[in-house]
Amino acid sequence: MLHDRDRIFRNIYGLHDVSLKGAMSRGVWDGTKFFIDKGHDYIIDEVKKSGLRGRGGAGFPTGLKWSFMPKADARPSYLVINADESEPGSCKDREILRHDAHLMIEGALLASFAMRAHTCYVYVRGEYIREREALQRAIDEAYDAKLIGKNNVHGWDFDIFVHHGAGAYICGEETAMLESLEGKKGQPRLKPPFPANVGLYGAPTTINNVESIAVAGEILRRGSAWFAALGKPNNTGTKLFQISGHVERPCVVEEEMGIPLKELIDKHCGGIRGGWDNLLAVIPGGSSVRCITAEQAEAVTMDFDALGKLGSGLGTAAVIVMDKSTDIIGAIRRIAYFYKHESCGQCTPCREGTGWMWRVLERMERGEAEKREIDLLFDVTKQVEGHTICALGDAAAWPVQGLINNFRSVIEARIDDYQAKHSRMAAE
Ligand code: SF4
Repeated sequence: MLHDRDRIFRNIYGLHDVSLKGAMSRGVWDGTKFFIDKGHDYIIDEVKKSGLRGRGGAGFPTGLKWSFMPKADARPSYLVINADESEPGSCKDREILRHDAHLMIEGALLASFAMRAHTCYVYVRGEYIREREALQRAIDEAYDAKLIGKNNVHGWDFDIFVHHGAGAYICGEETAMLESLEGKKGQPRLKPPFPANVGLYGAPTTINNVESIAVAGEILRRGSAWFAALGKPNNTGTKLFQISGHVERPCVVEEEMGIPLKELIDKHCGGIRGGWDNLLAVIPGGSSVRCITAEQAEAVTMDFDALGKLGSGLGTAAVIVMDKSTDIIGAIRRIAYFYKHESCGQCTPCREGTGWMWRVLERMERGEAEKREIDLLFDVTKQVEGHTICALGDAAAWPVQGLINNFRSVIEARIDDYQAKHSRMAAE
């Protein structure tokens, strides 16, 4: 269990002063100029050595991503912070925006300096109105204190702008976000070119998650070795976990990467509603990853590699717990509807496949299907997965695959029940 002294987010629950004064009393903005004076490459190297992997879901090494930005380019460079947190189950970035925003603003300056960017855009989810206001208050404080802006105390001109989204999930996809920032319809771009080469307004751009940026200052202050010593090899540091669903006390909590899921739920959430024997399944990383069974949940650790080995994923570490009262077919059908609704419609497998999968699941939930359709449904998920412009296609396919892999017998029983009931009715 994470010691309090190793916590990065010391005001994640908003129990203390959220103002600049309060943030400074917790060490934020401490030594920022010292790190900037050490140079661009020093910061990138430290973040690389820390082993930090992106906290937005994909887990790509953050320092390596920063190193892809050009060192000399006539075009301006940009940092875009993805605060579009829209994955069902995810609710960590909003706590940073509300209560620990100065950590993110300081991180934005450090990351932008490392990548030779003078401008940062924060793309905030449309529904996050109070969060956007809280962030803007913190940014205004930082400007007033000359921590950012032109001729600031850090010697690196830096502007940060907040852009409020309009509520489309797909704008959380990094290239759709760039389109939206440019004032266009939020639709993902074909890659390559990648944003580090051709990003916002055709210029080099890096897009990072809120949490990835917010931990940068503390990594530099306490040293990459400190961060790398927490967690597990290849899965280092601390992480904000978000646990919802059928636990006694749903919460957002900072813990070490690689904590056993059982420990996470028992220590921070008061256990499963009705006890572990009442657990049916867990979606460990936000709605887009494949669910795992109760047996797997009791043994797995919360990191990219362990969950990847189970065919699932850490994603944003949004843990959705489902006890035995859950209709698992209905739960996955509801998720399938979400992705159908949010598909931007550019690619045929996603546009047509998401609706097709949802409609079949609607029938399966009622038992009104043939057993051979289970394999057909799985086959269609494979035709969507990996055949689209962006990862929304995968995100729609994986939950359905998790259902079929782990709960095929539930679907078959539902079909048997339906057929038995209807053959009885026909005989009467
Ligand atoms: Fe749009 Fe779906 Fe294609 Fe992504 S996968 S670009 S959401 S149609």
